[in-house]
Amino acid sequence: MSVDDNTPVLRGCIKLPLPEDELLEVTAKAKDYAIMHGAAMRSKTNFSPDSLNFAPFVLVPSSFPRKEFEKAIALQPIINRLMHNVAHDEEFITTTLAETIKVDEFTANLFNIYRKALAHGFTQPISLGMLRSDLMLESRCRDMSMCSSSSSGGKDNDAKEKQEAKAKKTTKVGVARGISTSLGCWKQVEINTIASGFGHLGPASKTIQRFVLQELGHSDKLQHMPKNEALSGLCDGMVKAWDIYAKPQSVILFIIEDVSYNICDQRFHEFYIRETYPHIKVLRRTLTDVHREGKLGQHKELLLCVSLSLSLSLSLSLLTASLSLSLSHFFCSNNTEVAVIYFRAGYEPGHYPSQGEWDARYLMETSLAIKCPSIHYHLAGTKKVQQALAQPAVLERFINDPEEIKAVGKIFTGLYSLDDNEAGNANYEMALQTPQNFVLKPQREGGGNNVYGLDIPDALKRMSRVERSAWILMDLIHPPLSQGYMVRPGGKMPPEIVDMVSELGIFGVVIGDADHIVHNYQAGHMLRTKLSTANEGGVAAGLGALDSPYLIDSDDEDGYF
Ligand code: ADP
Ligand code: MG
Repeated sequence: MSVDDNTPVLRGCIKLPLPEDELLEVTAKAKDYAIMHGAAMRSKTNFSPDSLNFAPFVLVPSSFPRKEFEKAIALQPIINRLMHNVAHDEEFITTTLAETIKVDEFTANLFNIYRKALAHGFTQPISLGMLRSDLMLESRCRDMSMCSSSSSGGKDNDAKEKQEAKAKKTTKVGVARGISTSLGCWKQVEINTIASGFGHLGPASKTIQRFVLQELGHSDKLQHMPKNEALSGLCDGMVKAWDIYAKPQSVILFIIEDVSYNICDQRFHEFYIRETYPHIKVLRRTLTDVHREGKLGQHKELLLCVSLSLSLSLSLSLLTASLSLSLSHFFCSNNTEVAVIYFRAGYEPGHYPSQGEWDARYLMETSLAIKCPSIHYHLAGTKKVQQALAQPAVLERFINDPEEIKAVGKIFTGLYSLDDNEAGNANYEMALQTPQNFVLKPQREGGGNNVYGLDIPDALKRMSRVERSAWILMDLIHPPLSQGYMVRPGGKMPPEIVDMVSELGIFGVVIGDADHIVHNYQAGHMLRTKLSTANEGGVAAGLGALDSPYLIDSDDEDGYF
């Protein structure tokens, strides 16, 4: 991460450090609280399906500017609509990904499914989008007009002056060191259209931190922790799709990895649905399972051979896969119809160890089930599409309202193509000359794939001209720091105060077909925080920690540094 002495520090929600004995006691309590409220994961180093570790968390909530938070929440339905329209624009998806799929095999495989589905016509016109727009504060917005917060205030001089006056005041109260003129404005890091996680862990983080603040005698602070109904918001989205499918016996299918370390963030979804809507059954299957158990019915409904596959896998475990496949289809007596497919896997090459998993994905895509995401939504979430959307005038293709275009345009930071053409080659040269300003991203999800700053030239030089078009270049965002205690399984006790940076994710649900959107709403949020020295902050990957926002105003004087 790009952090230096000028990086501003957001004031904290309570005075730190805590006295050591109090810190030890509250941390031990918070760890137990986390495990016992499902803020937990399976251990990667000491895996057991029978036990959980608490997920790393930040002890007290990290500050986030209220105005920027509220703007992100308000913008989400517009982003939902944008992504829905992008997903349904065949020409845009096809031309945008044309160069990428020549060199990126994974995206090409996804695109191939899209192409085949297009050729046969989509069996199910309705898509379920459960998106997460990830954003970071950019502390270097010296020019307030760069900020999303200026979208309403920048119109007349009076408002502008007021804003500048406020920004000057913020220099005194908002930062401990550095040169910031504001609390920062937010920029989109990426938009996720598949397996957008933390619907449970987002709200669970708030639960832990609310408990900690109360234990520390700061109940008065709780009013600044915004409500977060991500779990119900997302699960209700699946149930709305199930309602649209309108078959009482049909189920919701979760597509899962072979091993789910982030198990709480899936099971809580399942438990919420089962407890709130007991008439709706939830099944969990891998892509490999679907290949073995799945087939299409007369009307292209997705049928899973549920009971037989279990007995088959016990009694026929020595038979070859193909034999068990054909037997399962032959003998199946209990076909379960799938209404909604929720992909928590399928977003990286490792989830498709053989052609069988690709066949399963295609089978599901051609079925009548409502997919989250359908293949076009998946492709709309690629980094390449994000880069194309950030180009001038492209938004006009998808959004009619000029104010909305302006508001969305402001959330993009510089995104650059590396295609083998004049513009792409100029961007390549720019990356070689000033790599410290950029992040290099491939068409992958799930963290750990990007190349940062000074590592970029070597990475680029190893690629051929055509290979570069599988990557995009993005301006590095410089979030402000916050300071706090990060608590990790096996970590130091008591924890030490560390410098951290946060990334906010806003969830959105959108349901509709190419012509109509029937549901569109913002569905809660999650905050992930990492050490300021780390490039990436995946919690499941072991680098980030659960957190939740503590909303501050730039003219608030009662904060702590
Ligand atoms: P993935 O799909 O793998 O999650 P992201 O685009 O979200 O890819 O990047 C992974 C992580 O890298 C982000 O969560 C963030 O911490 C960091 N990151 C990505 N883009 C930027 C950027 N432009 N500036 C600073 N950090 C970034
Ligand atoms: Mg990400």
